[in-house]
Amino acid sequence: MTQDLTSMMPQRPSLYRLAADGRSLDFLFAQCPACHALSFPANAPGCMHCGHAIDATDTATQVARPGGGTLLEYVTLHVPLVPGMPAPSIAGDIRIAEQVVEEGVVAVADESALRPGMALRAVAVPLASGDSYGCAFVPTEEVVR
Ligand SMILES: [Zn+2]
Repeated sequence: MTQDLTSMMPQRPSLYRLAADGRSLDFLFAQCPACHALSFPANAPGCMHCGHAIDATDTATQVARPGGGTLLEYVTLHVPLVPGMPAPSIAGDIRIAEQVVEEGVVAVADESALRPGMALRAVAVPLASGDSYGCAFVPTEEVVR
């Protein structure tokens, strides 16, 4: 059965939302009115780059960009970090915007599908609850072995 993601809620609505294709995620950033760089998450108290105070209630500073980025490094976790998390799983550091690096789960079978510097995109992953989805990263293009 294919689950309809569009009827589900994001697990972290302040961080991402379902993109128009119904599978990918858009990430929500704050765009600094002073230096125009992107900060993440959008509700950060100030610009990550120049320190300018950003009013999180001012939606004019909030921008959605297709979720994804560049894989910097990764490690296979053989023990679940949180209950219910599948193991082994792969955690990666992903540069989601200029000078913005976030840790995320990379949804591939094993590390051999990955290499540093490859492009990833964020996709919605249905959670066990059935009414919300989380975020995982997958390679933008299928890796040819
Ligand atoms: Zn700034």
